[in-house]
Amino acid sequence: MKFDVITLFPQMIEQACSHSIIARGIDSGVISVNTINPRDYTKDKHKKVDDTPFGGGAGMVLMCQPYFDAFDALEKDEDSEVILLSPQGEVFNQKLSFELSMKKHIVLVCGHYEGFDERIKQYTKAREVSIGDYVLTGGELPALCMIDSISRNIDGFLGKIDSANFDSFSDGLLEYPQYTKPRVYNGLPVPEILLSGNHMAISQWRRKQQLIVTYKKRKDLFDNFRKNCNNKEDLKLLNEVIKEIKE
Ligand code: SAM
Repeated sequence: MKFDVITLFPQMIEQACSHSIIARGIDSGVISVNTINPRDYTKDKHKKVDDTPFGGGAGMVLMCQPYFDAFDALEKDEDSEVILLSPQGEVFNQKLSFELSMKKHIVLVCGHYEGFDERIKQYTKAREVSIGDYVLTGGELPALCMIDSISRNIDGFLGKIDSANFDSFSDGLLEYPQYTKPRVYNGLPVPEILLSGNHMAISQWRRKQQLIVTYKKRKDLFDNFRKNCNNKEDLKLLNEVIKEIKE
């Protein structure tokens, strides 16, 4: 997977990608992350990339020319996915993250200041994506969130792909509670079942915990899972959980 990030602040991307699991993914060649700076393409003698909005108003708007030219300088093909980071876009989630992890090339276009001249979206034919209903100063943090999340879903990126398969949201539920050594800490014990060595019982306990946690923390996800559930085992656990919580 190749990520190209169009950004006025390439160091934000480069720095963040030089740590931990993302850096390992880059070193092993599973992903690559490149940056391209529209300021390097501006034809303005003062290296300007933004200007005041037509019609008046606060802030500065990113100009077409540096963004069009930076975009044109990137190698792309018909399968490249072009994403414009914007608080007005479709909201990024695990489903979209999985979908995008099937791509070979993603271009992430980061805005700043008051945002883009609308024609940048028209020219790049980008899909607008938001990371949530709040406004950040720039698209760099959203781009990093997307790179991180999408990469986790790529085969070979994580040590064991299972660690992504069981993550929260992967099948519509939140993850079960996790514990590690020691067995008791400050008087707080690990649930006995996890020490039993009975893999079938552990897996059932975890599934039920997923349902309990999702019911308590994200009733919207629980209701949606329930509506679409046709697995007999899950339905049995679902009913048990509802009964137990209501008692
Ligand atoms: N004036 C714009 C508006 O109200 O829609 C907001 C511009 S914002 C200050 C500057 C840039 O940050 C945007 O162009 C976008 O690239 C990025 N950005 C801000 N919030 C975002 C979000 N929730 N998701 C994705 N990108 C975001």
